[in-house]
Amino acid sequence: MSDSTFIKPDRETREDTKAGNYFIANYPPFSFWNEKDIPCVDSLLNSPSPGQAPLGLYYHVPFCRRRCHFCYFRVYTDKNSSDVRRYLDATIKELEKYSKSPYLAGRKPKFIYFGGGTPSYLSAQQLTELTNRMKDILPWDEAEEVTFECEPGTLTEKKVQAIRDFGVTRLSLGIENFSDRILETNGRAHRSGEVFRAYQWARDAGIENINIDLIAGMLEETDDNWSECIERVLELSPDCVTIYQMEVPFNTTIYQTMKGEGKLSAPVADWPTKRRWVAEAFSKLEENGYSVTSTCTAVKNPDQTKFQYRDQLWGGADMVALGVASFGHLGGIHYQNITQFEEYCKSMEQEKPIVRRALLTTEEERFIREFILQWKLGAVRPSYFLEKFGIDAGARYQGIIDDWEGKGILTKHSDLWILSRDALLRVDSLLHQFFLPYHQDARYV
Ligand code: SF4
Repeated sequence: MSDSTFIKPDRETREDTKAGNYFIANYPPFSFWNEKDIPCVDSLLNSPSPGQAPLGLYYHVPFCRRRCHFCYFRVYTDKNSSDVRRYLDATIKELEKYSKSPYLAGRKPKFIYFGGGTPSYLSAQQLTELTNRMKDILPWDEAEEVTFECEPGTLTEKKVQAIRDFGVTRLSLGIENFSDRILETNGRAHRSGEVFRAYQWARDAGIENINIDLIAGMLEETDDNWSECIERVLELSPDCVTIYQMEVPFNTTIYQTMKGEGKLSAPVADWPTKRRWVAEAFSKLEENGYSVTSTCTAVKNPDQTKFQYRDQLWGGADMVALGVASFGHLGGIHYQNITQFEEYCKSMEQEKPIVRRALLTTEEERFIREFILQWKLGAVRPSYFLEKFGIDAGARYQGIIDDWEGKGILTKHSDLWILSRDALLRVDSLLHQFFLPYHQDARYV
């Protein structure tokens, strides 16, 4: 097949990739988070500690070398070293504030996640200093997982060793694609040569768990190139592979171009093509000994490769969010920090509030949140929800479950309801059925 295997139809179809957020990352939708509930965060922090309830930390590094055309995160490509220093100080101040609260008294993080942006944008020295300061405030000796996201071109051998030394157990490499042409077209800063180099450094450093991120459906992706990407992944043989299907939110450069040209459909593969690409990748990975463990992940050793961050968070654990635009969850309250760099740093320096919006969820919303997020793992266990929330999901959703069973979307195995592979790859389009009526048409922003 040639590069023209995937040809975008002239006519827009229902399955084209339209602008907007498609994936469900949380519940209730972000558009319901509000200013009115912000005081709930402080009042929770002043309430007694829930003892040994699981606690996580999310640390947001908002810097990148270059803005990818599909990026919808709050990132900065123009900050100098004094801006970075100022930011790191502000986040440490934020962590100190949390650590002094009665709600966190006597608790230590069980999982820590450095996301972005590009955490590996920071130098080895900055990272070592930052993590030492974090550990002085809230020790990591009970952390079972420390995840760190990297852009391959920002790594050096020394930096990878420093990352290992401060305790990272899971290194996630944002490779996205192995074609230099596609990386360039999509505005990525790195090239494939840097990927192979970085991967080897991570292996040589003995990092426990290496993950590779790919995106199915980048600008100019083709069948041939996608197959080659999968071959490269199999050659590298990482512990885990995460494959996202390209979405085009409104705040991306791709959307700005579409808008300028008056187009409703994005110039990327349609949804059936992206799902086919992920399905092909999963099949190949399975042929090579991997197991598919969620809508976007395949792992080599499911018994050894755990995802504390995802599983604890999706199970309702507390997570303190640090940094600009970070999302946290404490005692059933969702919250997000201020989304502007200057305002965030200034507020921390002046000891002013930094939460921008929050949502005090109801018990019912917490049940739905866990129920829909756990479907993304490919299966749910009704007894878990009965024990934790006292809700019989089978009775509550009988119509939907019977319908799914009839359509072959779901198979029941006593206490386990398993999604078909086809349904798993489009699970986000199915989950709205479980939303409360007033959340049904909400936008995920
Ligand atoms: S590296 Fe990630 S966070 Fe940075 S611009 Fe690209 S997609 Fe956005």
